[in-house]
This record gives sequence, C-alpha cells and structure tokens, in this order.
Amino acid sequence: MLSRRRLRAAGVVQGVGFRPFVHQLATALTLTGHVGNDSAGVFIEVEGASAALDAFEAALRNNPPPLARIEQVLVEEIPALGETRFRIVESAARPGARTLVSPDIAVCEDCLREMADPADRRHRYPFINCTHCGPRYTLIRDTPYDRPATTMADFPLCEDCAREYADPANRRYHAQPIACPRCGPQLWLADAQGAVLCREDAALQAAQAALRAGRIVAVKGLGGFHLACDATNAAAVSALRTRKGRQGKPFALMVADLDAARRVVEVDAEAARLLGGLERPIVVLPRNAAGGVCDDVAPGQNTLGVMLPYTPLHHLLLAGMGPLVMTSGNRSETPILTDNAAALAGLADIADVFLLHNREIQVACDDSVVRVFEGHELPIRRARGYAPFPVRLPRKVPPLLAVGGELKAAFCLAEGGHAFLSQHLGDMERLETLEAFERAVAHLQRLFRITPEAVVVDRHPGYFSSRWARGLGLPVIDVQHHHAHIAALMAEHGLSGERPVLGLALDGTGYGEDGAVWGGEALIVDAAGARRAGQLAYVPLAGGDAAVLRPYRMALAHLRAADVAWDEDLPCVAACPPPERGVLRQQLERGINVVPTSSAGRLFDAVASALGICQRASYDAQPAIELEAHAALDDAGPAYPFDLHGADPVRIDAAPMWRALVADLRAGLSVGQMSARFHRGFVAAWGALAQRLCRAEGIGVVALSGGVFQNTLLLGRMTRSLRAAGLDVLVHRQVPPNDGGLALGQIAVAARYP
Ligand code: ZN
Ligand code: ZN
Ligand code: FE
Repeated sequence: MLSRRRLRAAGVVQGVGFRPFVHQLATALTLTGHVGNDSAGVFIEVEGASAALDAFEAALRNNPPPLARIEQVLVEEIPALGETRFRIVESAARPGARTLVSPDIAVCEDCLREMADPADRRHRYPFINCTHCGPRYTLIRDTPYDRPATTMADFPLCEDCAREYADPANRRYHAQPIACPRCGPQLWLADAQGAVLCREDAALQAAQAALRAGRIVAVKGLGGFHLACDATNAAAVSALRTRKGRQGKPFALMVADLDAARRVVEVDAEAARLLGGLERPIVVLPRNAAGGVCDDVAPGQNTLGVMLPYTPLHHLLLAGMGPLVMTSGNRSETPILTDNAAALAGLADIADVFLLHNREIQVACDDSVVRVFEGHELPIRRARGYAPFPVRLPRKVPPLLAVGGELKAAFCLAEGGHAFLSQHLGDMERLETLEAFERAVAHLQRLFRITPEAVVVDRHPGYFSSRWARGLGLPVIDVQHHHAHIAALMAEHGLSGERPVLGLALDGTGYGEDGAVWGGEALIVDAAGARRAGQLAYVPLAGGDAAVLRPYRMALAHLRAADVAWDEDLPCVAACPPPERGVLRQQLERGINVVPTSSAGRLFDAVASALGICQRASYDAQPAIELEAHAALDDAGPAYPFDLHGADPVRIDAAPMWRALVADLRAGLSVGQMSARFHRGFVAAWGALAQRLCRAEGIGVVALSGGVFQNTLLLGRMTRSLRAAGLDVLVHRQVPPNDGGLALGQIAVAARYP
C-alpha cells in the first residue's frame, strides 16, 4: 500500500546541503517523489510504504545536515501518484513567503584537506568552498538562495564545477559559491595606486613577505577589508595606529590555529569551542604576557581579542606566520570598506599593499566580538557568523522596523515570530554610517520581504537614527532607552512580560523619562510597560560629550556631590587644568549647561579617573574597561559602602564610596585593591536594592542589561550575588548588552510586550 506525504521545512534550510541530504535519504529508503527550494524554505513530496515515510520524517527532524536549523516541519497526507524515481526540482519563488538566510560559515575541514593536497584541482585555491562551508549572507542579493541571486553570478561554471554542482552525490551539489582556479574568483596583489604587482600564489607569498617586513597590508576578506600587520612588530603596529587615526582602541588579532592562540591568550575548553566554531568570532580572552604581542595592540588591557582564520585565503595567509593584527579596513569610526576601488581610494595612505580579489561583497559585515561568560558567548559585537540569523520571538508581531540607538548602530526588522537584527553597522554620527545603514535596511527588507507598518525609535530627540526614521513617513513609536535594553534581554529569553521582571539597566547614557541622562536604573518591566523603582542618585553631568572624553570632569562632579574637596593630591583633580577646573566649578555651582545623570558607565569612568587609571578616553568606555582590567581579584579588604535611601525610586548614593576611596588613595593602597573594592561595593549595593525590590514586588527574575555588563568581572559577581539571594538571573547570549542589542528590545516594546 503506497502512501504519499507533502512536507514543508522552514528555517535555515537553503545553502546548507538540505536537498542532497533529502535526496540521499529518500533514495536510501527507496522513496519516490521530489524536493525543491522556494522562498518559504524547502518543499518535499515523498511516496512509499508508511513505515519508510515515518523513518524519513524522523530522520529529517532529528538528523538534518549540520548547518541546517529547522524551525518547523508541516506534514500532510496526499494521494499517491505511483512515481518511479526521486528528483530534485527547480527552485520556485513564492510571493509573500520568507526563508531564512544562513550567516557566513568558516571553511570546513574537507575543503582545507583538498586545499592542502597538491593532486587536487583546487590545491592552494583561496576561494575553495562546499555545501557545508563558505560565504552566504555577504554574497546573497536575493532569495531564493541560488547562484544567479548571488555575487557568484558573474562567474560561469567550468565543466568540472558544473558536474560537481549537478551531482547529488557530490559534496558540492548546489553549493552556490562553488568555484575553482579555472572558473572562479582570482587573487592579486596591488600597490597603493592599484597597479598589479603579482597574482595567485605569488601574490600570497609577496603579501606574507610584506607583513614580515613590517608593512601594512589591506586584505579583502569575506564581509569587507582588513588592515593587517605583524602584531609582534611595535613599529608596524604604531604605524597602523597613526595612519588609521586610532589611538588607544585595541586591535583584534588573527592567529594560525588553536596552538598559536594558546601562545598569546589563555584558552580554556569553552574558549577553544568558540574560537574554532562555525561562526569564528573574535573572542576576548585573558592575555598571556609571554606571547610576544606588543603592548600597543591593546594598551591598558589585560585581554586580547583573538580569532582563527575563517576563509581559505586567511588559512593560506596565516600559514607559517606569527600573530597578525587584523582590524577593520576603514578609517576610524567609518563603515568597513567592501569594494576594491573604494578601498584603494580610502586606504591608500594606510596600507602599503593590497591583497585583492574579484568576488564582490554584497553585504558589508564586520567580524563579531564575544566574551565568554559561564560557558556561553556574551556578544559584544554581533555581525559575521551570526547575522542575519533571527531571534525567535515569544509572540507574533506585525511588520516593524526598529532603528536602535546612536553608537553601535544595528537595526531590527521583525514580522511574525522572527526578529532579524542586522549586523553591527558602526557609529551613526557619520554620514557614511547612515548611508550604510540605509543600504542595509533596504537589503534586509528585500531579502526577508518585510514591509514595515511602523518604525520604532529611541526617545532621544537628537539621535541620527531617530531623525532618519521620522523621515520615512511611517507611524513612529518611541521607546525609552533602558526599557528597550531590558526588553531585548527578555525577548531573547522568550519572555513576553506576562510576569514582571526586575531589570537592572547599567549603561553609559540614555535619554530618561524626565529628560535626565539615565544609565543606572532598576526598572520593573512587564507587558504593560516599565516603571523606575531604583536608580543611581543623580549627579550633575557638565558639558555632555566633554564629560565622556575627559572622565576627570565626571570624577570632580562626583567628589563635589560627596563633599570631598578638590585637592591637588587627587589624580583626577591634578588632571584637570586649573582654568578648566574654575569653569567647571562655576558650572556645577550655578547649574549651567548641566544635566542630572544616573549613569553607571559615567560612575565607572569617574572612579577610573580618581584612581589615575585613565584621564582621557580615546574610545567608548575606555576608562571603565581599564578599571576592570586593574581589579586585584585576590583583594579581601572591605567593599566600599554605598547608601540606599528614599523610595519610588530608591536611590543608590555613591557619596560614602567616594569618601572611603579617597581615604584609601591617601593611605597609599594599590590601584588594583581600590578597583576591586569599588567593584564589590557596587555589586553589593545593587544586590541589596534588587533584593529589596524583588521582595516588595514579589519578583523572582532579575535581568542584567546595558553596556556596563560587558564587564565580565562585574557580571560574574552580580550574577553570583543575586543567585545566592535565591533570584533567577538573565544575561545576554544572543544580542549584545550594549546598544547593539537595543533594536530588538524596541521591537518587543512596540509590539506591546514586554
Ligand atoms: Zn567545505
Ligand atoms: Zn570551475
Ligand atoms: Fe544603552
């Protein structure tokens, strides 16, 4: 008795070897029928004995190909047709349907083996790939995912590649980026004027020689250009800093393999898993001082951001080389460059030579950055390898676009149960970023066929993203910054706000309900909204950006609020030139150009300045990051005291902490001890506040979000302390705690949960 079933699989099911897998499975079970792709996913019809059909269905659900992510399988019984074979049928576009797009995947072991084999036709070919690896998101122009809809459309297949592409038994069956030295993209080395110096293997060897000689090489990668130099060569690193206009911000490294990573950073099992995973992010790990990497790579830090090669080109380039600096190919704070001509023009006075190829990059995508927390990734920058994989929402939402914040821009397109958070796009103050932002919005709208009905913005009136969004002619929904942070965390944990959680939003700056600069908030959040139940006590923030760039200004404001005199022996006082000090005193006394702030990030800045760690910030959160790096983990002295007073909201007052810190400073305690005591006192204060509020409100879950929680020392201590008090703790695993995750929370709030 023959039965026939129609199945639809949705999720990441295209470009991951799904159809050949289905073909092999059906053939092995002697089933007939067909399989094909359309813009909603994969459609299958199978015919045979019912037991064989059951086995087919079970294997599909339980053992799909490694890169597939099946979200749903729909099955229906249909009349048998008496077919005689199983076929793979043409792709079909279905109006109104959506399929997910795979992120870019690191080159696989099979491809690396072939690349190393002198007898293989792809020996040392830098663009080798197969169904299980290679570029995806960065070369897709449209869905369904097929070669004509990618940037590989420009490369007609040779006979050998065409045969592999058409053979269901081959590893490269329907591998859309399939290529070989005869028919695929080519590599060359150019000078800064664009003149070709050499090609293919000679280009690789010349690039390696240039790196060994201390030169800066621009390398065209997967989602954009890198600037590379020898990380053990102080002159090269310093030249790169000068030419790129990047002062203190750390550079990421690429090393040849895990053993090489172990020489420069401490790699535990979890770090090894993340370093070698398919996503291949930059993993921020404790630095191994004996690793030979020069200090200027990450000044003032005890960590290094390290990644392993993820394209065949990187493997070839890194072979036999020491650690390389691999930083985004751009000028400071502008989007990563993707186009040969634009890179030659934009990087001409930075790079000495250019390693180029002719495979176009459709979508700019930076390297992702993660830290490791409790056996999982804590995303810091979400881009290549992760985007555009969606966050599954706990409830269906109408089509919406959320535009995020100002720094670390990323937008979110959502519809139904999917929230597509874009890759990191840079800081929005720049025109170039705004243009990249517009292009990326248009591209993702086309890819996922989402036409937003409304646009969601931060409540800050001055954000570029909000102003851009208001020009779209769509209804605008605005969402408070820290509400969005907590909602993002709830959304990624599948919470829709039926029960309230206590959100601790510890952040740099965000526009508050009262017009103040918020950033140290305890919010009670549920589907109905957010209520501020606690905060860091306000201190005056004088002069906006100046307070961020010169953290001593924030330290002086805090000292004044704590009634500590501005004596010259204090590093933050000494760092403030006397004329500036006079103006600042007047500003604070008279309240001129002053906004109250509850920012936790600014408090960390102020402490870093008071301890003499950092008086001028050359990148976002530098003082706080250096303060964390200094903390002496073995210190057992008393935690600095904070006061809790008032109600609705309860205020955490830092004044007693300042008095204790200044006393320790004068007693000559080490910076490390003082940093540790500050961290512990800060955790104790928020822990006490959280316990009080949770008890009063009957809440059992605390959500930790905001940029300050990139600090894993703080995150770890806070998590342990809250758990010890019997509370459940949520931390970020899918989207960053910083403003890079904001857009997801904006979607959740706009869709009326939480
Ligand atoms: Zn492969
Ligand atoms: Zn070929
Ligand atoms: Fe924020």
